[in-house]
Amino acid sequence: MSEAHEEAGGSAGAGAAGAGGSDAVAFVGLGRMGLPMACRLVRAGVPAVGFDVGPVARDAFAAAGGAVADSAAAAIAGAGTVILMLPDSGVVESVLGDPQVAAALRPGTTVVDMSSCEPARTRALAERLAAAGVAMVDAPVSGGVARAVTGELAVMVGGQDADVARVEPLLKRFGTLFRSGGIGSGHAVKALNNLMSATHLLVTSEALLAGRRFGLDPARVLEIVNASSGRSGSTENKWPRFVLPGSYDSGFGLRLMLKDMRIAVDLAEQVGLPSRLGADAVAVWTRAAQELPADADHTEIARWLDEHAPPSPAA
Ligand code: NAD
Repeated sequence: MSEAHEEAGGSAGAGAAGAGGSDAVAFVGLGRMGLPMACRLVRAGVPAVGFDVGPVARDAFAAAGGAVADSAAAAIAGAGTVILMLPDSGVVESVLGDPQVAAALRPGTTVVDMSSCEPARTRALAERLAAAGVAMVDAPVSGGVARAVTGELAVMVGGQDADVARVEPLLKRFGTLFRSGGIGSGHAVKALNNLMSATHLLVTSEALLAGRRFGLDPARVLEIVNASSGRSGSTENKWPRFVLPGSYDSGFGLRLMLKDMRIAVDLAEQVGLPSRLGADAVAVWTRAAQELPADADHTEIARWLDEHAPPSPAA
């Protein structure tokens, strides 16, 4: 068991001081992932102040015993570490670009972007922050809402060693840390991971739907594949937990998945290794995103494929 699995009452707060000397942590973005992560800090006794633009999210954090600020700038004022768990690079840039936030970010503060973002934009942002004496670490996560609750996420950490060392005790509250390299590298790994995950889910769904039409029982197929070489997170987790029962409630939005896939496909293009399979997968997920409601869960890709299946040639 990693240190991250220690229960509340440990010393993460004491070891989490920013270079500015403050143990206080600002947590901006209390959504499906941010709320359970911020709640872990509260339970561990870390002095965390949360903010979200959504009043429901703010109320949920307050109900869990968290201190809530009425703006990002107010949460950040006095914090040695600022954790962001926001939808994408655009939102991260707009939060940090707010003049009141910029004024509240003291030199010596460390910003940890745990959102899934675009690596090139993260690098550019880190340079702008460095000019103001503010350090940046990217630390996106994998594991979904369930592992955010239990503190068993995979945390992909990019940044300079000294900056990472300052926030490591805090990040261990969320799961197991994996150093990926310099700033932006965590975001690169995260996007590539999700391109693989989304493509697995797509081909798993195609295969299971074809099998069902052939007369196979999808639950039985999953059982066999999970003891065979076709297994993946989609066969072991997503299909059994969210697709077969028809709940489609993993807590990870379809549009957020598509955002990550596009980041990865762009990255491959930028390094001169275009991902043809990835681009095809993006095209399918894009059509699904255009047709499904804004809050559709990413596992709904399986239902959408089923609903758009052409008629059986035998029919
Ligand atoms: P979410 O939409 O549930 O939460 C995002 C939160 O950010 C919302 O509560 C929203 O109100 C808030 N927000 C938006 N703009 C804001 C602003 N300007 N100021 C303050 N708050 C603002 O999304 P999520 O599922 O929690 O995902 C967050 C990030 O983590 C995304 O980058 C996502 O890709 C990534 N991620 C999600 C999962 C998952 O399973 N849900 C897993 C791994 C990574």
